[in-house]
Amino acid sequence: MSAAIIDGKAFAATIRARVADHVARLRDEQGTAPGLAVVLVGEDPASQVYVRSKGKMTKECGMQSFEHRLPADTTQVDLMALIARLNADAQVHGILVQLPLPAHLDSDLVINAIDPAKDVDGFHVSNVGLLGTGQKAMVPCTPLGCLMMLRDHHGSLSGMDAVVLGRSNIVGKPMAQLLLGDSCTVTIAHSRTRDLAEVTRRADILVAAVGRPEMVTGDYVKPGATVIDVGINRVERDGASRLVGDCDFASCAEVAGAITPVPGGVGPMTIACLLANTVTAFCRAHDLKEPD
Ligand code: NDP
Repeated sequence: MSAAIIDGKAFAATIRARVADHVARLRDEQGTAPGLAVVLVGEDPASQVYVRSKGKMTKECGMQSFEHRLPADTTQVDLMALIARLNADAQVHGILVQLPLPAHLDSDLVINAIDPAKDVDGFHVSNVGLLGTGQKAMVPCTPLGCLMMLRDHHGSLSGMDAVVLGRSNIVGKPMAQLLLGDSCTVTIAHSRTRDLAEVTRRADILVAAVGRPEMVTGDYVKPGATVIDVGINRVERDGASRLVGDCDFASCAEVAGAITPVPGGVGPMTIACLLANTVTAFCRAHDLKEPD
């Protein structure tokens, strides 16, 4: 293996420590702490793990955590009513609806019902528009975490060729916007892209967000490139269940200059950025200086 490992777990711990310091200061100065409400509908096992871990880390940072666990047969009307209550609740500064929602619910309607100022996931159409036009937005946590790791590793990203593999609204598209904002030359690749490996081999920065276990192998990677693996896939291997990324770590690490591991790369950064976004939402709501 020749690639340097980008340690998202350690980086995320430093961000959480900064968030905790900031929260303690806000408690002293404002007499109240930021509050994050997380809404989970149904019993999806992966979602339950994410929600538990978000709640735990929210509390560890000294913030208020409000968990709303609703049954799988919750109606659209009931869910919209909960969002309206959270929008109106002055103790709640951030609202996150854990996706995916059960199929009978319309996620777009739900996400766009969240007050954009409390939309710490950055999925509301107003925040998407603000990000796309380079204005002050709530930035989606996973792409934000990726960008922070890239900036930390490279300093300036200006002029670099970036390929984002995946065009989802929650990862691929906002990732591309952020890289464009940092003056990369950005290509978005997807399932209809022709000669995919040829496209990705042009990338100084390759972000893989395809949701296909270990699809990206070393022959997709330009020698010396930085590979950010967003994928979280649970697979059965040798009779045990384990998490793997969208990249085949061993072969990519032979070719790349730097790579994020799974687990311990993008995942922890996503939660750290969610906590940081909640502090940002609090500061904006109280007209205070935002964290850097
Ligand atoms: P989606 O399924 O919404 O999007 C996947 C994208 O990959 C689509 O644009 C699809 O193309 C593209 N794609 C699928 N197969 C291929 C292929 N064979 N060749 C090229 N492109 C392909 O996934 P998400 O964006 O929601 O998530 C991506 C991954 O990131 C998942 O593993 C998910 O678990 C993980 N994730 C991790 C997070 C974290 O905190 N670390 C947070 C969110 C997601 P098309 O549009 O043409 O169908």
